[in-house]
Amino acid sequence: MSKNGFTTTLVHSDRRSTIEHGAIHKPLHPSSEYAFADSRELAAVFQGKAGFTYARQGTPTTQALEAKITQMEGGLNSVSFATGMAALNATFFTLLRAGDHLISSQYIFGNTNSLLNTLAGLGVEVTLVDATDVANVAAARRPETRMVFVESIANPGTQVADMKAIGDWCRDNALLYVVDGTLSTPWLCRGRDVGAGLVINSLSKYIGGHGHALGGAVTDTGLYDWSTYPNIADVYRHGSPQGWGLTQIKKKGLRDMGATLSADSAHRISVGSETLALRMERSCSNAMALAQALAAHPKVSRVSYPGLPSHPQHVRAGELFGGRYGALVGVELLDGIDVFEFLNRLKVFVLATHLGDTRTLVLPVAHTIYYEMGPERRALMGIADSMLRISVGIEDPQDLIDDFLDALESF
Ligand SMILES: *Cc1c(COP(=O)(O)O)cnc(C)c1O
Repeated sequence: MSKNGFTTTLVHSDRRSTIEHGAIHKPLHPSSEYAFADSRELAAVFQGKAGFTYARQGTPTTQALEAKITQMEGGLNSVSFATGMAALNATFFTLLRAGDHLISSQYIFGNTNSLLNTLAGLGVEVTLVDATDVANVAAARRPETRMVFVESIANPGTQVADMKAIGDWCRDNALLYVVDGTLSTPWLCRGRDVGAGLVINSLSKYIGGHGHALGGAVTDTGLYDWSTYPNIADVYRHGSPQGWGLTQIKKKGLRDMGATLSADSAHRISVGSETLALRMERSCSNAMALAQALAAHPKVSRVSYPGLPSHPQHVRAGELFGGRYGALVGVELLDGIDVFEFLNRLKVFVLATHLGDTRTLVLPVAHTIYYEMGPERRALMGIADSMLRISVGIEDPQDLIDDFLDALESF
Protein backbone atom coordinates (compact mmCIF):
# COMPACT_ATOMS: atom_id res chain seq x y z
CA MET A 1 0.00 0.00 0.00
CA SER A 2 1.27 3.42 -0.95
CA LYS A 3 1.63 6.00 1.83
CA ASN A 4 0.15 8.61 -0.49
CA GLY A 5 -3.41 9.79 -0.17
CA PHE A 6 -6.46 8.49 -2.05
CA THR A 7 -6.19 10.50 -5.27
CA THR A 8 -2.39 10.62 -5.46
CA THR A 9 -2.32 6.84 -5.20
CA LEU A 10 -4.89 6.49 -7.97
CA VAL A 11 -3.40 8.85 -10.52
CA HIS A 12 0.06 7.30 -10.15
CA SER A 13 -1.09 3.70 -9.84
CA ASP A 14 -0.58 2.60 -13.46
CA ARG A 15 2.83 4.11 -14.04
CA ARG A 16 4.23 2.78 -10.75
CA SER A 17 3.76 -0.76 -12.06
CA THR A 18 6.34 0.07 -14.78
CA ILE A 19 4.94 0.65 -18.24
CA GLU A 20 6.82 0.57 -21.56
CA HIS A 21 7.96 3.87 -23.13
CA GLY A 22 7.13 5.84 -20.00
CA ALA A 23 3.40 5.60 -20.72
CA ILE A 24 1.34 6.94 -17.82
CA HIS A 25 -1.69 4.76 -18.58
CA LYS A 26 -1.67 1.00 -18.56
CA PRO A 27 -2.11 0.03 -22.23
CA LEU A 28 -5.17 -1.89 -23.38
CA HIS A 29 -4.56 -5.60 -23.87
CA PRO A 30 -7.27 -6.90 -26.22
CA SER A 31 -5.53 -10.26 -26.65
CA SER A 32 -7.86 -13.22 -26.04
CA GLU A 33 -5.12 -15.71 -25.28
CA TYR A 34 -1.63 -15.45 -23.80
CA ALA A 35 1.19 -17.52 -25.27
CA PHE A 36 4.15 -19.15 -23.53
CA ALA A 37 7.67 -19.89 -24.73
CA ASP A 38 8.06 -22.61 -22.09
CA SER A 39 5.50 -25.40 -21.69
CA ARG A 40 6.33 -25.91 -18.02
CA GLU A 41 5.58 -22.25 -17.37
CA LEU A 42 2.24 -22.65 -19.19
CA ALA A 43 1.31 -25.55 -16.92
CA ALA A 44 2.46 -23.63 -13.84
CA VAL A 45 0.17 -20.68 -14.62
CA PHE A 46 -2.80 -23.03 -15.08
CA GLN A 47 -1.94 -24.53 -11.71
CA GLY A 48 -2.03 -21.24 -9.82
CA LYS A 49 1.14 -19.26 -10.59
CA ALA A 50 0.44 -15.59 -11.34
CA GLY A 51 0.03 -14.96 -15.07
CA PHE A 52 -2.48 -14.81 -17.91
CA THR A 53 -3.92 -17.66 -19.98
CA TYR A 54 -7.26 -16.72 -21.49
CA ALA A 55 -8.90 -13.32 -21.25
CA ARG A 56 -12.10 -14.65 -19.66
CA GLN A 57 -10.00 -15.07 -16.49
CA GLY A 58 -8.58 -11.55 -16.72
CA THR A 59 -6.05 -9.46 -18.62
CA PRO A 60 -3.27 -7.05 -17.63
CA THR A 61 -5.81 -4.27 -18.24
CA THR A 62 -8.41 -5.66 -15.82
CA GLN A 63 -5.63 -6.43 -13.36
CA ALA A 64 -4.48 -2.80 -13.37
CA LEU A 65 -8.03 -1.66 -12.61
CA GLU A 66 -8.38 -4.28 -9.87
CA ALA A 67 -5.19 -2.90 -8.30
CA LYS A 68 -6.77 0.56 -8.20
CA ILE A 69 -9.99 -0.73 -6.61
CA THR A 70 -7.97 -2.64 -4.02
CA GLN A 71 -5.99 0.51 -3.22
CA MET A 72 -9.17 2.58 -2.88
CA GLU A 73 -10.73 0.01 -0.55
CA GLY A 74 -7.53 -0.61 1.41
CA GLY A 75 -8.16 -4.30 0.75
CA LEU A 76 -6.17 -7.41 -0.04
CA ASN A 77 -7.28 -8.09 -3.60
CA SER A 78 -10.15 -7.55 -6.03
CA VAL A 79 -11.80 -9.34 -8.95
CA SER A 80 -13.55 -7.36 -11.68
CA PHE A 81 -16.68 -8.32 -13.63
CA ALA A 82 -18.65 -7.13 -16.64
CA THR A 83 -21.24 -5.39 -14.41
CA GLY A 84 -22.07 -4.81 -10.77
CA MET A 85 -24.82 -7.44 -11.04
CA ALA A 86 -22.25 -9.95 -12.27
CA ALA A 87 -20.13 -9.20 -9.19
CA LEU A 88 -23.15 -9.77 -6.93
CA ASN A 89 -24.10 -12.96 -8.79
CA ALA A 90 -20.59 -14.34 -8.53
CA THR A 91 -20.49 -13.62 -4.79
CA PHE A 92 -23.87 -15.15 -3.93
CA PHE A 93 -23.74 -18.14 -6.27
CA THR A 94 -20.19 -19.21 -5.49
CA LEU A 95 -20.41 -18.82 -1.71
CA LEU A 96 -23.95 -20.00 -0.91
CA ARG A 97 -25.46 -23.49 -1.20
CA ALA A 98 -29.04 -24.78 -1.01
CA GLY A 99 -30.03 -24.85 2.67
CA ASP A 100 -27.77 -21.93 3.60
CA HIS A 101 -29.35 -18.84 5.09
CA LEU A 102 -28.70 -15.28 3.93
CA ILE A 103 -29.74 -12.23 5.94
CA SER A 104 -30.19 -9.25 3.65
CA SER A 105 -31.24 -5.69 4.17
CA GLN A 106 -34.74 -5.10 2.82
CA TYR A 107 -33.53 -1.76 1.45
CA ILE A 108 -31.73 -2.83 -1.69
CA PHE A 109 -31.43 -2.13 -5.38
CA GLY A 110 -34.37 -3.60 -7.36
CA ASN A 111 -32.30 -5.95 -9.49
CA THR A 112 -30.52 -7.25 -6.38
CA ASN A 113 -33.94 -7.92 -4.88
CA SER A 114 -34.83 -9.89 -8.01
CA LEU A 115 -31.53 -11.79 -7.82
CA LEU A 116 -32.30 -12.78 -4.20
CA ASN A 117 -35.62 -14.22 -5.43
CA THR A 118 -33.67 -16.36 -7.89
CA LEU A 119 -31.38 -17.54 -5.10
CA ALA A 120 -34.41 -18.40 -2.96
CA GLY A 121 -35.81 -20.44 -5.86
CA LEU A 122 -32.62 -22.50 -5.79
CA GLY A 123 -32.98 -23.32 -2.12
CA VAL A 124 -31.05 -20.55 -0.36
CA GLU A 125 -33.13 -19.22 2.54
CA VAL A 126 -33.30 -15.44 2.38
CA THR A 127 -34.56 -13.24 5.22
CA LEU A 128 -35.06 -9.55 4.52
CA VAL A 129 -34.66 -7.29 7.54
CA ASP A 130 -34.65 -3.59 8.32
CA ALA A 131 -30.86 -3.30 8.49
CA THR A 132 -30.94 0.25 9.81
CA ASP A 133 -30.86 -1.48 13.23
CA VAL A 134 -28.42 -4.28 14.02
CA ALA A 135 -30.97 -5.80 16.41
CA ASN A 136 -33.10 -6.86 13.43
CA VAL A 137 -30.12 -8.58 11.83
CA ALA A 138 -29.23 -10.38 15.06
CA ALA A 139 -32.85 -11.52 15.53
CA ALA A 140 -32.86 -13.17 12.09
CA ARG A 141 -29.84 -15.35 12.78
CA ARG A 142 -30.18 -19.13 12.41
CA PRO A 143 -27.66 -21.96 12.72
CA GLU A 144 -27.48 -22.07 8.89
CA THR A 145 -26.79 -18.34 8.49
CA ARG A 146 -23.73 -17.92 6.27
CA MET A 147 -23.80 -14.34 5.10
CA VAL A 148 -25.13 -10.89 5.94
CA PHE A 149 -25.66 -8.46 3.07
CA VAL A 150 -26.40 -4.72 3.15
CA GLU A 151 -26.10 -1.68 0.90
CA SER A 152 -24.23 1.22 2.49
CA ILE A 153 -26.71 3.84 1.29
CA ALA A 154 -29.76 2.06 -0.11
CA ASN A 155 -30.79 2.58 -3.68
CA PRO A 156 -33.26 4.36 -4.01
CA GLY A 157 -34.62 5.10 -0.51
CA THR A 158 -31.26 6.36 0.89
CA GLN A 159 -31.65 4.37 4.12
CA VAL A 160 -28.24 4.04 5.77
CA ALA A 161 -27.59 0.58 7.20
CA ASP A 162 -26.31 0.19 10.76
CA MET A 163 -23.05 -0.73 9.04
CA LYS A 164 -20.53 -0.52 11.84
CA ALA A 165 -22.67 -2.28 14.45
CA ILE A 166 -23.53 -5.04 11.94
CA GLY A 167 -19.83 -5.42 11.19
CA ASP A 168 -19.03 -5.81 14.89
CA TRP A 169 -21.87 -8.32 15.32
CA CYS A 170 -20.72 -10.35 12.29
CA ARG A 171 -17.16 -10.43 13.63
CA ASP A 172 -18.34 -11.62 17.05
CA ASN A 173 -20.43 -14.33 15.38
CA ALA A 174 -17.80 -15.29 12.75
CA LEU A 175 -20.23 -14.48 9.92
CA LEU A 176 -19.29 -13.27 6.46
CA TYR A 177 -20.38 -9.64 6.04
CA VAL A 178 -20.83 -8.39 2.48
CA VAL A 179 -21.38 -4.68 1.84
CA ASP A 180 -22.52 -3.25 -1.49
CA GLY A 181 -20.75 0.10 -1.23
CA THR A 182 -21.80 1.38 -4.66
CA LEU A 183 -23.64 4.46 -3.40
CA SER A 184 -21.08 5.56 -0.85
CA THR A 185 -17.96 4.58 -2.84
CA PRO A 186 -14.66 4.02 -1.04
CA TRP A 187 -14.21 7.80 -1.02
CA LEU A 188 -17.00 8.22 1.56
CA CYS A 189 -16.58 4.90 3.35
CA ARG A 190 -14.36 1.86 2.96
CA GLY A 191 -15.97 -1.49 3.64
CA ARG A 192 -13.07 -2.57 5.81
CA ASP A 193 -13.68 0.36 8.16
CA VAL A 194 -17.12 -1.04 9.00
CA GLY A 195 -15.89 -4.63 9.30
CA ALA A 196 -16.96 -6.00 5.91
CA GLY A 197 -15.21 -9.14 4.67
CA LEU A 198 -16.20 -8.49 1.06
CA VAL A 199 -17.11 -5.21 -0.63
CA ILE A 200 -19.06 -5.04 -3.89
CA ASN A 201 -18.79 -1.98 -6.12
CA SER A 202 -20.71 -1.36 -9.32
CA LEU A 203 -17.99 0.33 -11.34
CA SER A 204 -20.65 1.53 -13.78
CA LYS A 205 -21.66 4.15 -11.24
CA TYR A 206 -19.44 6.69 -9.44
CA ILE A 207 -16.13 4.85 -9.82
CA GLY A 208 -16.27 4.87 -13.64
CA GLY A 209 -18.34 7.99 -13.32
CA HIS A 210 -18.99 9.06 -16.89
CA GLY A 211 -21.83 6.83 -18.03
CA HIS A 212 -19.79 5.16 -20.75
CA ALA A 213 -18.72 1.79 -19.38
CA LEU A 214 -20.23 -0.99 -17.27
CA GLY A 215 -18.28 -2.93 -14.69
CA GLY A 216 -18.31 -4.42 -11.21
CA ALA A 217 -15.83 -5.60 -8.61
CA VAL A 218 -15.58 -7.69 -5.47
CA THR A 219 -12.84 -6.76 -3.01
CA ASP A 220 -11.63 -8.92 -0.15
CA THR A 221 -10.81 -6.60 2.76
CA GLY A 222 -8.75 -9.27 4.52
CA LEU A 223 -10.91 -9.14 7.67
CA TYR A 224 -12.74 -12.44 7.23
CA ASP A 225 -11.17 -15.76 8.23
CA TRP A 226 -11.97 -18.03 5.29
CA SER A 227 -10.71 -21.12 7.11
CA THR A 228 -14.02 -21.00 9.06
CA TYR A 229 -16.20 -20.79 5.92
CA PRO A 230 -17.69 -24.19 5.10
CA ASN A 231 -18.40 -23.71 1.38
CA ILE A 232 -14.85 -23.38 0.08
CA ALA A 233 -14.01 -26.27 -2.23
CA ASP A 234 -11.01 -28.39 -1.24
CA VAL A 235 -9.17 -27.46 -4.43
CA TYR A 236 -9.08 -23.79 -3.28
CA ARG A 237 -7.99 -24.58 0.28
CA HIS A 238 -4.31 -24.09 -0.49
CA GLY A 239 -1.90 -21.51 0.80
CA SER A 240 -2.98 -18.74 3.14
CA PRO A 241 -6.72 -18.87 3.97
CA GLN A 242 -6.81 -15.11 3.31
CA GLY A 243 -6.97 -15.79 -0.43
CA TRP A 244 -9.50 -18.64 -0.44
CA GLY A 245 -12.75 -16.70 -0.77
CA LEU A 246 -11.67 -14.51 -3.66
CA THR A 247 -10.00 -17.45 -5.41
CA GLN A 248 -13.31 -19.33 -5.39
CA ILE A 249 -15.19 -16.20 -6.56
CA LYS A 250 -12.66 -15.77 -9.38
CA LYS A 251 -12.53 -19.40 -10.48
CA LYS A 252 -16.22 -20.23 -10.15
CA GLY A 253 -17.76 -16.80 -10.56
CA LEU A 254 -15.55 -15.33 -13.28
CA ARG A 255 -13.95 -18.25 -15.13
CA ASP A 256 -17.00 -20.56 -15.06
CA MET A 257 -19.80 -18.00 -15.26
CA GLY A 258 -17.91 -15.84 -17.73
CA ALA A 259 -19.18 -12.29 -17.10
CA THR A 260 -15.73 -10.82 -17.75
CA LEU A 261 -14.96 -7.12 -17.91
CA SER A 262 -13.61 -6.15 -21.35
CA ALA A 263 -10.22 -4.47 -21.61
CA ASP A 264 -11.86 -1.47 -23.26
CA SER A 265 -14.32 -0.96 -20.40
CA ALA A 266 -11.63 -1.60 -17.81
CA HIS A 267 -9.54 1.16 -19.35
CA ARG A 268 -12.41 3.67 -19.42
CA ILE A 269 -13.36 2.89 -15.82
CA SER A 270 -9.74 3.09 -14.77
CA VAL A 271 -9.31 6.59 -16.21
CA GLY A 272 -12.67 7.68 -14.78
CA SER A 273 -11.76 6.41 -11.32
CA GLU A 274 -8.82 8.81 -11.06
CA THR A 275 -11.21 11.71 -10.41
CA LEU A 276 -13.57 9.85 -8.07
CA ALA A 277 -12.79 12.05 -5.06
CA LEU A 278 -13.23 15.30 -7.01
CA ARG A 279 -16.50 14.21 -8.60
CA MET A 280 -17.90 12.85 -5.34
CA GLU A 281 -17.12 16.06 -3.46
CA ARG A 282 -18.95 18.08 -6.10
CA SER A 283 -21.88 15.67 -6.48
CA CYS A 284 -22.35 15.44 -2.71
CA SER A 285 -22.32 19.21 -2.23
CA ASN A 286 -24.68 19.65 -5.20
CA ALA A 287 -27.01 17.02 -3.73
CA MET A 288 -27.02 18.84 -0.40
CA ALA A 289 -27.85 22.17 -2.04
CA LEU A 290 -30.63 20.62 -4.13
CA ALA A 291 -32.08 18.64 -1.21
CA GLN A 292 -32.20 21.77 0.96
CA ALA A 293 -33.86 23.83 -1.77
CA LEU A 294 -36.47 21.13 -2.43
CA ALA A 295 -37.17 20.45 1.25
CA ALA A 296 -38.08 24.13 1.63
CA HIS A 297 -40.43 24.13 -1.38
CA PRO A 298 -44.21 24.10 -0.77
CA LYS A 299 -44.93 21.79 -3.75
CA VAL A 300 -42.52 19.10 -2.53
CA SER A 301 -44.02 16.75 0.06
CA ARG A 302 -40.95 14.72 0.93
CA VAL A 303 -37.20 14.72 0.37
CA SER A 304 -35.12 11.69 1.34
CA TYR A 305 -31.49 12.67 1.69
CA PRO A 306 -29.15 11.58 4.49
CA GLY A 307 -27.75 15.12 4.66
CA LEU A 308 -31.05 16.57 5.92
CA PRO A 309 -31.58 16.55 9.70
CA SER A 310 -35.03 15.05 9.02
CA HIS A 311 -33.45 11.86 7.62
CA PRO A 312 -33.74 9.02 10.19
CA GLN A 313 -30.04 8.09 9.84
CA HIS A 314 -28.69 11.64 9.45
CA VAL A 315 -26.30 11.43 12.42
CA ARG A 316 -25.04 7.96 11.50
CA ALA A 317 -24.43 9.02 7.89
CA GLY A 318 -22.41 12.02 9.05
CA GLU A 319 -20.21 9.78 11.20
CA LEU A 320 -19.77 7.03 8.61
CA PHE A 321 -19.18 9.25 5.60
CA GLY A 322 -17.05 11.99 7.08
CA GLY A 323 -19.63 14.76 6.87
CA ARG A 324 -20.70 13.95 3.29
CA TYR A 325 -24.02 12.36 2.52
CA GLY A 326 -23.89 10.85 -0.94
CA ALA A 327 -25.39 12.12 -4.16
CA LEU A 328 -28.72 10.32 -4.39
CA VAL A 329 -31.86 12.24 -3.49
CA GLY A 330 -35.41 10.84 -3.29
CA VAL A 331 -38.22 13.34 -3.90
CA GLU A 332 -42.00 13.15 -3.71
CA LEU A 333 -44.13 15.95 -5.11
CA LEU A 334 -47.43 17.09 -3.60
CA ASP A 335 -50.42 14.87 -4.33
CA GLY A 336 -52.16 16.06 -7.46
CA ILE A 337 -49.02 17.03 -9.36
CA ASP A 338 -48.66 14.77 -12.38
CA VAL A 339 -45.09 13.46 -12.10
CA PHE A 340 -44.94 12.53 -15.77
CA GLU A 341 -45.96 16.05 -16.81
CA PHE A 342 -43.45 17.46 -14.36
CA LEU A 343 -40.60 15.27 -15.66
CA ASN A 344 -41.33 16.28 -19.25
CA ARG A 345 -40.65 19.91 -18.32
CA LEU A 346 -37.13 19.38 -17.01
CA LYS A 347 -34.39 20.67 -19.31
CA VAL A 348 -31.10 20.04 -17.50
CA PHE A 349 -32.01 16.86 -15.58
CA VAL A 350 -31.70 13.84 -17.86
CA LEU A 351 -34.66 11.44 -17.86
CA ALA A 352 -32.75 8.21 -17.63
CA THR A 353 -32.07 5.26 -15.42
CA HIS A 354 -28.53 4.82 -14.03
CA LEU A 355 -26.76 6.80 -11.33
CA GLY A 356 -23.32 8.07 -10.49
CA ASP A 357 -22.86 9.86 -13.80
CA THR A 358 -21.36 13.33 -14.14
CA ARG A 359 -24.81 14.38 -15.43
CA THR A 360 -27.85 14.65 -13.16
CA LEU A 361 -30.35 11.86 -13.88
CA VAL A 362 -33.95 11.51 -12.72
CA LEU A 363 -36.29 8.51 -12.76
CA PRO A 364 -39.83 7.74 -11.50
CA VAL A 365 -38.75 4.52 -9.79
CA ALA A 366 -42.09 2.84 -8.97
CA HIS A 367 -43.00 2.97 -12.67
CA THR A 368 -39.64 1.78 -13.97
CA ILE A 369 -36.90 -0.13 -12.16
CA TYR A 370 -39.13 -1.01 -9.18
CA TYR A 371 -42.20 -1.81 -11.32
CA GLU A 372 -41.66 -5.55 -11.68
CA MET A 373 -41.51 -6.24 -7.94
CA GLY A 374 -45.07 -5.05 -7.29
CA PRO A 375 -46.64 -2.77 -4.68
CA GLU A 376 -46.04 -4.92 -1.59
CA ARG A 377 -42.28 -5.12 -1.98
CA ARG A 378 -42.19 -1.44 -2.87
CA ALA A 379 -44.03 -0.60 0.35
CA LEU A 380 -41.52 -2.72 2.32
CA MET A 381 -38.70 -0.69 0.77
CA GLY A 382 -40.39 2.63 1.44
CA ILE A 383 -40.93 3.48 -2.23
CA ALA A 384 -43.98 5.66 -2.89
CA ASP A 385 -45.68 5.65 -6.33
CA SER A 386 -44.74 9.28 -6.82
CA MET A 387 -41.08 8.91 -5.78
CA LEU A 388 -38.46 10.40 -8.06
CA ARG A 389 -34.89 9.22 -7.74
CA ILE A 390 -32.35 11.90 -8.54
CA SER A 391 -28.72 11.00 -9.12
CA VAL A 392 -27.02 14.34 -8.71
CA GLY A 393 -24.14 15.09 -11.06
CA ILE A 394 -21.38 17.66 -11.15
CA GLU A 395 -23.18 20.49 -12.95
CA ASP A 396 -23.25 24.02 -11.53
CA PRO A 397 -25.59 23.69 -8.55
CA GLN A 398 -27.77 26.70 -9.29
CA ASP A 399 -28.60 25.30 -12.74
CA LEU A 400 -30.00 22.17 -11.11
CA ILE A 401 -32.06 24.06 -8.54
CA ASP A 402 -33.41 26.48 -11.19
CA ASP A 403 -34.33 23.67 -13.56
CA PHE A 404 -36.30 21.77 -10.91
CA LEU A 405 -38.07 24.85 -9.56
CA ASP A 406 -38.87 26.17 -13.07
CA ALA A 407 -40.49 22.86 -13.98
CA LEU A 408 -42.56 23.01 -10.77
CA GLU A 409 -43.67 26.58 -11.46
CA SER A 410 -46.77 25.85 -13.55
CA PHE A 411 -48.34 23.32 -11.19
C1 LIG B 1 -26.42 -0.20 -10.11
C2 LIG B 1 -26.24 -0.97 -8.88
C3 LIG B 1 -25.83 -2.30 -8.93
C4 LIG B 1 -25.64 -3.03 -10.24
O1 LIG B 1 -24.60 -2.50 -10.99
P1 LIG B 1 -24.53 -2.65 -12.61
O2 LIG B 1 -23.13 -2.28 -12.90
O3 LIG B 1 -25.54 -1.72 -13.18
O4 LIG B 1 -24.84 -4.06 -12.92
C5 LIG B 1 -25.63 -2.96 -7.74
N1 LIG B 1 -25.83 -2.35 -6.56
C6 LIG B 1 -26.23 -1.06 -6.47
C7 LIG B 1 -26.41 -0.45 -5.14
C8 LIG B 1 -26.45 -0.33 -7.63
O5 LIG B 1 -26.84 0.95 -7.53
